[in-house]
Amino acid sequence: MPNTSKKRVAILGAGVSGLSCAIELEKYGIYPDIFEANKHLGSRGFNHALGWINLMYRPVRDPMLYLEEKYNIPLRAMEEIRRVNFYSANNFATMTGKLGYIHMAGPDERGILAQLRAFIKSPIYFNSIVNFRDLAKEYEYVVIATGTPEIPKLLGVWKTDVVGYVRGATVKGYFDPYTVVMWVNTKYAQRAYAYFVPWNDRKGSLILNCQEITGHAAGKMYDMFIDDIKWDVEFEEFHETPHTIGHVKRHQIDNLYLIGLAGGFLDPLFAFGNIESIESGLAAARSIALGWDFTKQIHLWLRRNQQLLMLRRYVDKFKDEDFDKVFDVVKSPGFRTLVAKTNINIIYIISKLANTLAGDKVDRVLW
Ligand SMILES: Cc1cc2nc3c(=O)[nH]c(=O)nc-3n(C[C@H](O)[C@H](O)[C@H](O)COP(=O)(O)OP(=O)(O)OC[C@H]3O[C@@H](n4cnc5c(N)ncnc54)[C@H](O)[C@@H]3O)c2cc1C
Repeated sequence: MPNTSKKRVAILGAGVSGLSCAIELEKYGIYPDIFEANKHLGSRGFNHALGWINLMYRPVRDPMLYLEEKYNIPLRAMEEIRRVNFYSANNFATMTGKLGYIHMAGPDERGILAQLRAFIKSPIYFNSIVNFRDLAKEYEYVVIATGTPEIPKLLGVWKTDVVGYVRGATVKGYFDPYTVVMWVNTKYAQRAYAYFVPWNDRKGSLILNCQEITGHAAGKMYDMFIDDIKWDVEFEEFHETPHTIGHVKRHQIDNLYLIGLAGGFLDPLFAFGNIESIESGLAAARSIALGWDFTKQIHLWLRRNQQLLMLRRYVDKFKDEDFDKVFDVVKSPGFRTLVAKTNINIIYIISKLANTLAGDKVDRVLW
């Protein structure tokens, strides 16, 4: 193992990607200084449930097993996802099987952030407001893991793809703790979708993911959504947050690395980004410690996100009838066999097909 212990590294942001980067650096004897603007881990002070949907990570079949076997990071999920119910305006489909995992985001001690933190010994300086340019002079490497596009924008390498807004609530009721629900309906979720992820059999997160609208409009849409689904639940705590999706021209600028959402590691279709944020942090650490090429390590994510962005553009034009037809496909025995019995990257194939139908070119969508 190379003697890397003298390398001085700063990480800006103690969220999913920053903590993952620290875990991997420590394996090579590097103990970074971690600067966190909040008084807690992560950007959000509230808890909400996260879904890790296995289908999104093909050919990897099980993302938890992948992190454990490839990186020696064993994580505990709150629950498995064993069923997903899909609702469009006039259709319903359901899928069952080993479909993914439920995790907790936010300060919860069972959550993903607390679990990642437990692996590291490096100091985390909470309530730290530091300038990344000053850090870049002081440290050999600075890893930008801030979960927002501000710094890549200042560096002139960011392009916004989707101006997203997430409005959600913690709800109390009676739920199946293994079932995730997803709605697509242009009435309240045009260019967006809504989903429910249970925390357990009595609580869950009911979330609307919108694009190209203001926070105020997202609130109105959310009201229309809960009015439409008529769920018998009690609303405990509302939350809302901008959720911009984009990509960067370069992930390394001088001694800076851009990882997690700040490096564009967020899927442009569903706006999920946990696994890619984790892996981008691990890749930056290996690049710093071992001199490995960062882009080569994460090129599969970049390619996948380009495809998903093109699919997003295609799906943005869908009408309710189109979503109804998609769920006919989800119900078909052929699709179910592909999901249950193979490792085929179905989302990638669908993206390719959609892109061919739309006649789009990657570079036209990218820059
Ligand atoms: C409501 C919601 C639901 C989501 N659901 C899912 C899901 O179900 N599945 C999934 O895979 N993904 C989901 N995501 C996306 C996922 O949360 C992100 O992909 C992931 O958190 C990105 O990790 P990150 O490290 O880039 O940023 P974060 O985890 O946000 O961490 C960034 C950290 O940097 C800190 N910071 C910011 N600026 C500074 C600064 N200047 N100095 C110091 N510290 C700073 C922040 O306080 C924060 O702690 C969801 C996101 C939201 C908003």
